Amino acid sequence: MRIAEIYTSLQGEGLLTGRPSLFVRTSGCNLRCWFCDTPYTSWQPEGEDWSVDEIVAEAERLRPELSALRLPGETTFERATEQPHAVLTGGEPMLFAELMPLCEQLRTAGWHITIETAGTLFLPVACDLMSISPKLASSTPSAERAGKWRERHEQTRHQPEVIRRLIDGYNYQLKFVIDTPDDLAEVTAWLNDFPVVRRERVLLMPQGTGPAGLADIAEWLQPYCQEHGFVFCPRQHIAWYGARRGT
Ligand code: SF4
Repeated sequence: MRIAEIYTSLQGEGLLTGRPSLFVRTSGCNLRCWFCDTPYTSWQPEGEDWSVDEIVAEAERLRPELSALRLPGETTFERATEQPHAVLTGGEPMLFAELMPLCEQLRTAGWHITIETAGTLFLPVACDLMSISPKLASSTPSAERAGKWRERHEQTRHQPEVIRRLIDGYNYQLKFVIDTPDDLAEVTAWLNDFPVVRRERVLLMPQGTGPAGLADIAEWLQPYCQEHGFVFCPRQHIAWYGARRGT
């Protein structure tokens, strides 16, 4: 499978925020969000082809680094006995059938597995947390920038049957990127089609890669989450490291 990067860092988003994690970032995506924060896996995909065995070997090589990663004020001792976390992300990792044997092998080796997907493709993978980030209408790029990708993105971004299989079959979180207040009505309408979803599993995350822009959105989004029972999801890795690749 095509891999853009493999590295260790702290998980910056979602219910497992703060966990030392190994990130395996696949390259290639079936969407073209205008705000994509990893364009090197979508708009201009980079990377080399790795075999499953090579990825697993790299994961084991990097595993010792996890115990050295910690939040300010936290001791390594607190994390010493924790199951190692692997995050398979992209791009869109579900594009690759090799994800199935990769997850099997990582699980056999004792890793906790998170898959970060936009929820447009299904594979029957071994996974402990399915982190689904459905893309709203506001993600669609302009025709000037995207050409034929604008229509392709718009037709692909919402696949309700795939979402149903993912939330029925896995422990999940739903992570929506919120750009403007107009997105909130769309989230509500989206959730009305999936009444089984519990709100404590729904995270609303500000769109942006700079602290100032994120803070502007957080100002109205955080109170909205409190009022409506959603989880506000800051992008902590930007606060910790800035918008830097490999973090
Ligand atoms: S789905 Fe994710 S990787 Fe693909 S274009 Fe959108 S933000 Fe980028």
